[in-house]
Amino acid sequence: MITTDIGIIGAGPTGMFAVFEAGLLKMHCHLIDSLPQAGGQLSEIYPQKPIYDIPGYPAINAQQLVDNLSEQIAPFHPGFTLGERVETLEKQQDGTWTIGTNEGTLINCKVVVIAGGLGCFEPRKPEVDRLAEFEGKGVLYAVRNPEAFRDRNIVIAGGGDSALDWTIFLANVAKKVTLVHRGDTFRGAPDAAEKVAELARTGIIDLVLKSRVVALDGAGHLEQVTITGQNGQDQHIQADNFIPLFGLSPKLGPIENWGLKIDKSAIEVNTFDYSTNVEGIYAIGDINTYPGKLKLILCGFHEAALMAQSAFKHVYPDQRLTFKYTTVYGITELA
Ligand SMILES: Cc1cc2nc3c(=O)[nH]c(=O)nc-3n(C[C@H](O)[C@H](O)[C@H](O)COP(=O)(O)OP(=O)(O)OC[C@H]3O[C@@H](n4cnc5c(N)ncnc54)[C@H](O)[C@@H]3O)c2cc1C
Repeated sequence: MITTDIGIIGAGPTGMFAVFEAGLLKMHCHLIDSLPQAGGQLSEIYPQKPIYDIPGYPAINAQQLVDNLSEQIAPFHPGFTLGERVETLEKQQDGTWTIGTNEGTLINCKVVVIAGGLGCFEPRKPEVDRLAEFEGKGVLYAVRNPEAFRDRNIVIAGGGDSALDWTIFLANVAKKVTLVHRGDTFRGAPDAAEKVAELARTGIIDLVLKSRVVALDGAGHLEQVTITGQNGQDQHIQADNFIPLFGLSPKLGPIENWGLKIDKSAIEVNTFDYSTNVEGIYAIGDINTYPGKLKLILCGFHEAALMAQSAFKHVYPDQRLTFKYTTVYGITELA
């Protein structure tokens, strides 16, 4: 069992900055995220995009902001449980909380901060016969380790940036990449679409347009993919892997069942301290709602600061909180 002062569900920018604000008040945090890396939407959806509305940065690349946050919170030594989805939250008799993940990790804490953004990101799954049966046996919804595809026959489906980018990247790694797309034009970046067309012209990849993957086949592991074109004709392609890349859809998931007041998939909070209707549970960042709420990174940062001031009374019920400027005390003394 991991023990900490504050268990933070969600390691997006809001959860990360909450570690800093809590750390200034000598509260230790443990972050849990279903994604394999910290950074939330910034790292997962738009790592290379510049952000223009972070105070003090005329422009900053999203991944750079996440890297800076990691550096900023490092002195407070947060714990991380990544790649695990929080499933359960139970109040203990001594008033503490136990957070449980799908992998069985348990985190005991005095305060729970839900910084779950839009919820867990789950891949959008296409309707393909026997898809679920081959999940983990050839079917993947993300490319984590490109080397795993070396010398393999791969079918990628999709028409957005991910499908185009991975087709280009894996063209040099895999034995053969086949990209299947429902339309004949791509939603992804034009230069990536041109590169894919060029790879197809030169025979390095196979491009199958106006078509859909409809069925999978194999004995134990994926061996064959069936593709149907607009003319209704089927073609069968040998495949070791099928990678449907149709984007991620966020799901509030288990958070909905914890007795919290929810309005349109967001948790209602008191703007005094971003506490929820359940004592000891706070909700900050994109996951909360209140009159005038803006889903912006800087709003999440502000909410984290006020939450920490309030959480202090749960962690140190016998102590008086003294507000301190970092310019006066620095980080090392506070950490
Ligand atoms: C394309 C795009 C561009 C944007 N541009 C800007 C911009 O220019 N400026 C700006 O201010 N904002 C921008 N935003 C919005 C900004 O990204 C969000 O406001 C910000 O990410 C919210 O941070 P967060 O930490 O609250 O949530 P998120 O970044 O969504 O992080 C929440 C994390 O919680 C995790 N999680 C949720 N539920 C669970 C669970 N049950 N178990 C484990 N983990 C869980 C998720 O996996 C996720 O990693 C943009 C958003 C998008 C999509």
